[in-house]
Amino acid sequence: MRAEPVKRGAEAGETTVLLASPRSWCAGVERAIETVERALDQAGGDPVYVRKEIVHNRTVVAELAAKGAVFVDELDAVPDGEDVTVVFSAHGVSPAVRAEADRRGLRVIDATCPLVRKVHTEAHRFAEQGKTIVLIGHEGHEEAEGTMGVAPDSTVLVETAEDVADLALPADAEVAVLTQTTLAVDETTSVVDALRQRFPRLALPPSDDICYATTNRQRSAAAVVADADILLVIGSANSSNSRRLVELSHRQGVAAYLIDDAGDIDPSWLDGIGTVGVTAGASTPPALVTEVVDALRQRGPMQVYERETVTENMRFTLPRPSTIRGERS
Ligand code: SF4
Repeated sequence: MRAEPVKRGAEAGETTVLLASPRSWCAGVERAIETVERALDQAGGDPVYVRKEIVHNRTVVAELAAKGAVFVDELDAVPDGEDVTVVFSAHGVSPAVRAEADRRGLRVIDATCPLVRKVHTEAHRFAEQGKTIVLIGHEGHEEAEGTMGVAPDSTVLVETAEDVADLALPADAEVAVLTQTTLAVDETTSVVDALRQRFPRLALPPSDDICYATTNRQRSAAAVVADADILLVIGSANSSNSRRLVELSHRQGVAAYLIDDAGDIDPSWLDGIGTVGVTAGASTPPALVTEVVDALRQRGPMQVYERETVTENMRFTLPRPSTIRGERS
């Protein structure tokens, strides 16, 4: 990797690739993947069940499945027994799922990201205070479902500032706001502003729910998009934070494409393009970025420059088995 050029590649007859940094795996994703790998090592050939995709990435799921992980949608696809291991995904689960696993005596390894657990703890606290929780998130996303499940009778979901106007709550309602960890920072701010206008006594969590990895990847993508003609975002279609990177680029007026891997690149996207921005969502393996850069290199002369906006050094400790018994969420 080289220092950034004074003269851009297109002017010199080369393609310039600007790599956003940070990109790819975050601490929560690395922890979740390592959790499954260790469980497989310790299982001695027995199946390790994983509820939902451990992280939202097609390649990660395929590689772990090839090593013996059995991905299931719900616990009813897991056999009973204390020697049956089930891993909960990084996106978290509702207390009802925990209770079901507990009731059936399953050996649980909970790979819920600690930053998602933090939001669950906030939901529990606000519900105990009698507040209505407005969760900003995406309907049907596993993280939103898990967080809603902490206090289902006290939580409503909104996606946009427009949704706030439709909430059937009086202006003096005791309302608290929480957010999915992988949302667009600027869009979420506008929803919170709309909530503040409707509910002047709106309670907020002590710190942002949108996690450091989401924020950092949006900032690094924005820095690259500022000088790129297109942005390639490597990530799967169900990866929330990857999709937010595509949207961010569109909002800055730069075409962006979500690709699972190098094979998804349509050569026509690159016709007449001088500078290609490349980034990857928090669930995307770094190796896929290397493959994409190698594929771009096949097209002709190219220089690659990395644009780092912040250095990440977050690490989370691994979860231990069956840590959920008797635990409150
Ligand atoms: Fe945790 Fe954020 Fe990574 Fe999700 S994106 S796993 S919340 S660090």
